[in-house]
Formats: sequence, structure tokens, C-alpha cells
Amino acid sequence: MCGIFGISGHPDAANITHLGLYSLQHRGQESTGIVAVDDDGTALAVRKMGLVSDGFDDKGIASLHGGTAIGHTRYSTAGSSSIENAQPVFVRFRGGHIALAHNGNLTNAVQLRGELEADGSIFASSMDSEVIVHRIAKSRAERPEQQLAEALAGVEGAFSLVVVIGKTLVAARDPNGWRPLVMGKLGDAYVFASETCALDIVGASVVRDVEPGEIVAIDEHGVRSLQTPPSPVLHRCVFEYIYFARPDSRVFGGSVDRARRALGRQLAREQPAPGADLVFAVPDSSNSAALGYAEESGLQLEHALIRNHYVGRTFIQPTQAGRDAKVKVKYNAVREVLEGKKVVMVDDSIVRGTTTRGLVALLRAAGAKEVHMRVSSPPITGPCYYGIDTPEKEYLIAANMSIAEVGKAIGVDSLGYLTLEGMLGAVPGGPDGFCHACFSGQYPTQPPIDIKRYRSGV
Ligand code: AMP
Repeated sequence: MCGIFGISGHPDAANITHLGLYSLQHRGQESTGIVAVDDDGTALAVRKMGLVSDGFDDKGIASLHGGTAIGHTRYSTAGSSSIENAQPVFVRFRGGHIALAHNGNLTNAVQLRGELEADGSIFASSMDSEVIVHRIAKSRAERPEQQLAEALAGVEGAFSLVVVIGKTLVAARDPNGWRPLVMGKLGDAYVFASETCALDIVGASVVRDVEPGEIVAIDEHGVRSLQTPPSPVLHRCVFEYIYFARPDSRVFGGSVDRARRALGRQLAREQPAPGADLVFAVPDSSNSAALGYAEESGLQLEHALIRNHYVGRTFIQPTQAGRDAKVKVKYNAVREVLEGKKVVMVDDSIVRGTTTRGLVALLRAAGAKEVHMRVSSPPITGPCYYGIDTPEKEYLIAANMSIAEVGKAIGVDSLGYLTLEGMLGAVPGGPDGFCHACFSGQYPTQPPIDIKRYRSGV
């Protein structure tokens, strides 16, 4: 998963992009980058591993001039975590330069890459996104938005994109609408971002979502929209509402906070915990869901787990060893809240079970008498091929065990998940128009044919 940001028509474009990326940090913490284009059409890129806050030195940002810029925060779902794979992708070609920032995963990237390589293309990264850049460079269409449209014809899977071709900023969203992309205005400048929280931080107002299948181009000639046919049924990622997006954002036109509270309330209706003394969240991603659970159940909401804010999202560690170590240092239990109590712990999801197992041990060590786990989404039984880092079935605890077995494995007294219907009925704009393949096994497209190559990117 990744965060993308783009701006056109602002004299301080690179600095605004830098600021916007701070609010998209939760979408990717492995690497980050900005490309800016000045009024003469000269483009410069800075890219670094790590966080936005430690990602650029002042000279890096100061060297970026001009009124158009795009930025990216990355966590790898296809292609390794390395500097060659830091985005924006930035290349020079016969028509000048192309810079591209991508959120999502392409399901046929390996085939498209093979075709390009057979034709003599040389790749500088193992990212699926680079395929799009090659295809733009091959297009003979006149306008940048047409070049992008040609490049995207035949590309399958999930993409929200901000691209700079020459001096034109182009934003695009795949016909299924998998990933969010919102358009805003800051004075006369146009801004695009994965989530509205990035518009808020730069002081931009929301104009509208980029529509599924839409390509929007912005340059000195104005704003142009090119609508390619959207999918007859949309497949917006429901996991954006459950876990990924920030609660202060609106994605797909709905409030993430309201979505999570509704999920929590529905969870309390479906999976009550009679006799419990209190409820708490696994901070921070399930705070709003736990609030909803408390509202509906009437249980007292407590802060029983304190999260170390200097440790990032545990899951967004590419290796298991990294994840195990981080769970231990990420959370501490509050003995005064837990001792002798029958408690309900709300989390938004269980993937491998690493986090929950570690947390339950922590709660028991702090004196909890009973631990009842409630999950504000259904059991995850399949990988995601559209941009969320959900691993293959063999690593998914609920794909390999019954719910009772999962409860036993993680050491809880009871375990309750939300139903698929309950989840889809609770999210804004539901129940139709969402991708829920990781829960239901209903993949809207053909999954990648060679999973190993899909994951490695080459
Ligand atoms: P696990 O320890 O593997 O069961 O992961 C579950 C925890 O990771 C939960 O607390 C979720 O909030 C979080 N989580 C779930 N899915 C993802 C994801 N795709 N990327 C990052 N974190 C996730």
C-alpha cells in the first residue's frame, strides 16, 4: 500500500507536497520521494528510504523548484523494499521526462513486463509501476492524458496514480475504483491525494473524488477530464475503511471515523460479550471501532493498552522477524485497568495472529481475568492482489483454522468476528460496490498467474 500526493499551479509545490506526505505516512513507511518540475520543464527527484520526517534533508527539498510536484510514501506489496523501488518512478525519454507515483497493485504486471522486455526494454526496478512508465513512453498520442490512457489500456488490477508528463500533472484511478484518490483546490492550485487528511494539512479544500476510470490532466491550458468506461460493478477496497485510511479522512466519499464506529456498533450487536467489565481498543487503528462497540454495548471504554508512538505500524515490516520484535516493543498494558477484570479487546483485523497472540499474553500478565477478543471485520482467508499487504493463505491464521481454533491459538477466552454481511452493511455506500476478496474469496479479476514472480516483481 502507498500514499500519493500531487499538486499543480503552486509556486511552492515541493514544500506543499512534503507537508502532504506527512499525513500519508501511515500508508507506507519504507521509502518516500518527491519529484518537482519547474516552469522551464526541468524536473528533479529526491528519494530516500525511511520516513518523511527523516526522509529528506533541507537541501533535498530546497533543490526542488517549480509549480508542479508529486510525492509518494511506500510500503512494498510487489517488488522489494529498496532504494531502486522508491517512488516516484522518474525517467527521461524522447519526450522529456515522466514521473509517476502509484498506489495499488497491477495483477498482470509480470506479463506486461515480459512483453516489454521481449521488445528490448530495460527496467531499473522490480516494481509493477515501472511497466506503466514504459507504456507511456511508447505512446504516440498527442496529449499527456491520452498517452496515459493508452498506457493503461490492458493494464489490470488496482491503480490510483499521479503522473507528471512534461509540465502536465495527470491523475488517474482504475475502472474498479479500488484505491481512493481525491481532488482538491488550494487557491488556484489543484491538489490530488490518497486521502482527504492530506488536503487538510496543506489547507486545501475537497473538490471531489477522481472517478473510477477517470483521467484528469492539469496544466497551463486548464483542467481536462477523460473518462474511460468504469467497471459496471465497482470494487472499492473495504479494508480502507476497516484498517488502512486515517479516521480523520473521507475516502470513497465516506467518513472513515463514521465507518469504523458503525463497524464497532454492528460488532457489538453480532458479538456481544455478556458479563464483561470493560472494552478497549488495540490502538490506534481500532480506536473508533472500540468506541462504536462501547456505545452499542454500554460497556465502559478504557485505555488498557498504551502504544509506543516511536514504533511504526507493526505489520508494515516486510519480514516476520521484524514484526515479532516490533509487537513486543510497541504495546504496554495498564495493570490498573486490567487487574481482576473481564475485558473485551477490539481489533480491526487478525492477519497472521502475531499481534493478537503477543497482546493476549501481555493482558494476562497484567492481571486480566478473562480476555474476549472482538474483531471488526470477518476472518481474513485469502491474500490481497490489489495493494494491501495480506500474505498468501499459508500465513493467514483464519485460512488454516476454524474460529474456535484461532481463539485457542491466540489464547483468548472467546473470539468473535463480524460477518461479511454485517461489515458490508455498516460501511458508507455499502453493501455493494466493494472488493472483499480477502474475506470472501471472490476475486474481481484473475489473480496473478505466477504468485512468486508477482511478489518479487520480476
Ligand atoms: P497480525 O499480527 O498479523 O494478526 O496483524 C494484525 C494487526 O495488524 C492488526 O492489529 C491490524 O490492525 C494490523 N493490520 C491488519 N492488516 C494489515 C495490513 N495489511 N497492513 C498493516 N497492518 C495490518
